[in-house]
Amino acid sequence: MTGIHRLARDATQPAVGRDVEAWCSKCGRVLEHIIVAMVGLEVVQVRCRTCSGTHKYKTAREVAKAASEPKRERAPKSATSRSAAPKEDPIEVRAARLVWQRSMAQLDRAKAAPYAPALQPESGQLLDHKTFGYGIVETVGDGKARVLFETGYKLLAIGR
Ligand SMILES: [Zn+2]
Repeated sequence: MTGIHRLARDATQPAVGRDVEAWCSKCGRVLEHIIVAMVGLEVVQVRCRTCSGTHKYKTAREVAKAASEPKRERAPKSATSRSAAPKEDPIEVRAARLVWQRSMAQLDRAKAAPYAPALQPESGQLLDHKTFGYGIVETVGDGKARVLFETGYKLLAIGR
C-alpha cells in the first residue's frame, strides 16, 4: 500500500499522563517517564517511573549533544582528575553511546564509507573512522562534519 500515513503516529502522540521515553539524569539512562506538563505539542516536564523524580524532558540525544557544546566544558583540567581511570563513563558519554547504538541498529555497516578528509559526506551517512570506529554524520558544513561516534560527537574535516 502506498500513500497511507502510518496510523501509529497518532497513537504515539505525546499527551499529559502518557508515557514517554526520556533521559533521567538521576538514573543516568533512558527510561519510561510519565508526561507531567506540555506546551503545545512539546513535552516540557516528565516524571521518572523508576526514581519518581520530576524533571525537564530531555532525550538521550539532547544530553549527548549538550556534552559536545564547548561552553559547557566543566571538567577540571587539574592533574587529579586524570590520575585514575574512571569506573563509570559520564552520563553524557553513556547517552551518546545509546543514541549511537540505536542509530547503528538501523544502518548497514557494510555500506560505511571509509573516512578521509577528502570525503564529502551527507548528513545521515555512515562513516568508518580508523580511530573512532563507526560514526553517523549528524550535520555537514564549513569544511567540517559533526559525527556521532560510540564515544560521543566529534568534528571531522571534510572536503579537503
Ligand atoms: Zn529516574
